[in-house]
Amino acid sequence: MSLLPVISKLLEKLVQKAINQYVLSSGLYGAAAYYGLTTNSGKRLLETAYNQCLRVATGCVPSTPLTKLYEVAGAPSLHTKITRQAGNLANIALRHSTPTPARTVLSARVPQRIRQDKTTWQQLAQETLPTQQFLPLPSRPPPWAKVENLTIHITDCSRDDPPHVRLSAALECLDKVSSLCAQSQSYEVWTDGSVTDEGTGGSGYLVIKVTDGQRSEVCSGSDPAGVVATSFTAEVTAAVAGLSAAEDLLTAGLTNTDGQPSLPDLILVTDSRSLTDSVAGDPYRMSPDTIPVFEAIKSISQLVTSIHLVWVSSHCGLFLNDKVDRLAAAGTQVPQGHVRLPVQATKTAVRKATRYPPPLLDTKKLGDLRTRKASCKLNQLMTGHCSLLNGYLHRIGAAHSPHCVFCPGVVEDAMHFLFDCPGRAQSRHSAALQSSSSVSQAVAESPYNIARFLQLEKLL
Ligand SMILES: [Zn+2]
Repeated sequence: MSLLPVISKLLEKLVQKAINQYVLSSGLYGAAAYYGLTTNSGKRLLETAYNQCLRVATGCVPSTPLTKLYEVAGAPSLHTKITRQAGNLANIALRHSTPTPARTVLSARVPQRIRQDKTTWQQLAQETLPTQQFLPLPSRPPPWAKVENLTIHITDCSRDDPPHVRLSAALECLDKVSSLCAQSQSYEVWTDGSVTDEGTGGSGYLVIKVTDGQRSEVCSGSDPAGVVATSFTAEVTAAVAGLSAAEDLLTAGLTNTDGQPSLPDLILVTDSRSLTDSVAGDPYRMSPDTIPVFEAIKSISQLVTSIHLVWVSSHCGLFLNDKVDRLAAAGTQVPQGHVRLPVQATKTAVRKATRYPPPLLDTKKLGDLRTRKASCKLNQLMTGHCSLLNGYLHRIGAAHSPHCVFCPGVVEDAMHFLFDCPGRAQSRHSAALQSSSSVSQAVAESPYNIARFLQLEKLL
């Protein structure tokens, strides 16, 4: 008897191993070919094997609907897993610098042929997201693509410092940077990004012109940053917009003043440490989303004497930072439909859209009642497809009546069986089984009490 829990644990592990090593690996290995080349019957074979493994692992009966099965098993469908893998492969292949076969296939539409699906990987990645528009993947700058006149300044403070310390550190840093600007004229570009709880992005920028110590605000803007922005991509959108506004001003200024002896200085202020860190890194290893900022800095660097990228701490009472923060928040409210999505945000969103919550039943919570039989019955109760329920047995033609044996006229479903039936009140009371709004919630919260209840009813 004492061997039983050991065997059941082994079996769980074995099934998991079978899924991961045989079914999943062959699916993921073939992800590249899965959509273009595999026959539909081949695909169905793999899907069926995968679903059967999940059924064995959870103890769910064959009639359990797939959506319920995936929910109970805490696993997405094989299709979802492979789509995600195909999306990743597509991401890599599209960044090939020469027209490799993979890149060619991705960029072209696959013609509809016999036994073939019509979707390319790129389209698959797009299917998962609420928008069809993506930014084209930028090509990497070469390793020697440094911006000679760029300096990066990091305010000397930590996030945990009290606001007044961070504020004075920021002011000191900005003072130091201003003193480095030797030209009579300079431009300050303040930028910030913002993301709502729903993941919508906004960006804001503010351009200040400083002539012989006189400061004046020249222009500002709030822009949308996409329906699936990350805080990083919102910051990037803001920096690119701010730099491009400044570049327009500089180009216009150059044509007007012929007698201008020298080019102005430029100070770009951001509260995003990840932005300053990525721009400071090796250009060749830059993430695709940083490249637009790098390109914008490179482009404007021709028009100025020096560029200073300054990191200041956010929310420390710095007036212009707060102002640009409000502009960014306003940017999230602007219609986003036309905004094309950057790579990183897209990848994050695909992952989020295809992520699955863990299994509802935590078998560890079963304690000394942890047996394979108990976990199978609990999983079955959650799906409603369970041989303990007359309602279910009647549906599959295995019982004459769907009604509860104790309550004539009442259909016996999982809710009635666990929480309502007066005929089982004694066991329910002894097992301290609390009433719950759903079976899944009860299994997630108190699986031990349910197992104890089943045991007292002599059903385990
Ligand atoms: Zn009853």
